[in-house]
Amino acid sequence: MENKFASLFGAKKLGFGMMRLPMLKKDDGTQVVDTDQVCRMVDEFLDRGFCYFDTAHGYLDGKSELAVRDCLTSRYPRDRYILTDKLTSSFFKTEADIRPLFESQLKACGVAYFDFYLLHSLTADNYNHYCECNAFAVAQQLKAEGMVHHVGFSFHDKPELLRRILTEHPEIEVVQLQFNYADYEDPGIQSRANYEVCQEFGKPVIVMEPVKGGRLANLVPEAAEVLANLHGGSAASYAVRFAASYEGTGMILSGMSSLEQMRDNLSYMQAFTPLTGAERAAVSQVCTILHRQDTIACTNCRYCVAGCPKQILIPDLFACLNAKKQYKDWNSEFYYEVNTNGHGKASDCVKCGQCEHVCPQHLPIRDLLVETAAVFEKA
Ligand code: SF4
Ligand code: SF4
Repeated sequence: MENKFASLFGAKKLGFGMMRLPMLKKDDGTQVVDTDQVCRMVDEFLDRGFCYFDTAHGYLDGKSELAVRDCLTSRYPRDRYILTDKLTSSFFKTEADIRPLFESQLKACGVAYFDFYLLHSLTADNYNHYCECNAFAVAQQLKAEGMVHHVGFSFHDKPELLRRILTEHPEIEVVQLQFNYADYEDPGIQSRANYEVCQEFGKPVIVMEPVKGGRLANLVPEAAEVLANLHGGSAASYAVRFAASYEGTGMILSGMSSLEQMRDNLSYMQAFTPLTGAERAAVSQVCTILHRQDTIACTNCRYCVAGCPKQILIPDLFACLNAKKQYKDWNSEFYYEVNTNGHGKASDCVKCGQCEHVCPQHLPIRDLLVETAAVFEKA
């Protein structure tokens, strides 16, 4: 299937999302990007004809932008790749802060321009902040100066707000949406309805979270069996191909964490084919199974972690609870201990609400931590 938006994104519909890069633990306990492995991933990705890379200032506490420089931009000519970076609301307080931030991003990534610059993670909570700081106009100015080629935004809210933003800002060229088969009809995420608004406004969609933060790659056994019976590929392959099957999607971002994961992605996106009728039916059966599971829909984006005054590793604690519910994991208590060693426990939450303001999944984190504490801190 041809990419209708090849002139914008390149012919292949798979992008390297650099928010979940492979990491190494140093002797002092700090985490650094596994640069050797990322270099090999970048090489293989480009060799196979893929060219789109996505980062943001906050990814991996700034280490993602530096990995872009070390593994991509310092090693390849500028016309070999398309690079997207983002303007994140928590990194600027006033209009005057935006340009220095942007320039620091160019420097960190080692480039003179970004192909795409996206206003990051727009929601009803932060849209006013972007407007009050004139962020849409500043982005257009950067474009006029040649330091940005295309301006868009990523979005995590309801279709009514999306329609409003696209009406108020017709200059926007692309929209990045959370879009996957589990969220397609989900009343909280509303992937389908948001996609349809983009279609209505003629905006190409960049897909984020096609595998729902890895949750559609690691399915509960009953759901995994449905896909395995198709004998066609990995669980992740159906999720990525689902998103790519829509004509209005021009780029599917996969947050790849290892060379092995990348090779799997490349194997079915090299010569991509849309889902067949039988595959769509299987995916819908998987949705039915997943909806029966009472688990937390955290995608491990980690936006909530940096601002927590009690240093609670929120997504990791939720992962323990999910593992306990889904798989009756015998060792989820052990991992709960690991993830609270040197960090806050679920019961340490002081309910300040910072995390909920930035959670793109709109999760009631404070309530969920009460539930998590009840399960793991009984003794
Ligand atoms: S509400 Fe709790 S978990 Fe969230 S940021 Fe505040 S202390 Fe941390
Ligand atoms: S709780 Fe929300 S913000 Fe935090 S990692 Fe999960 S999805 Fe992301």
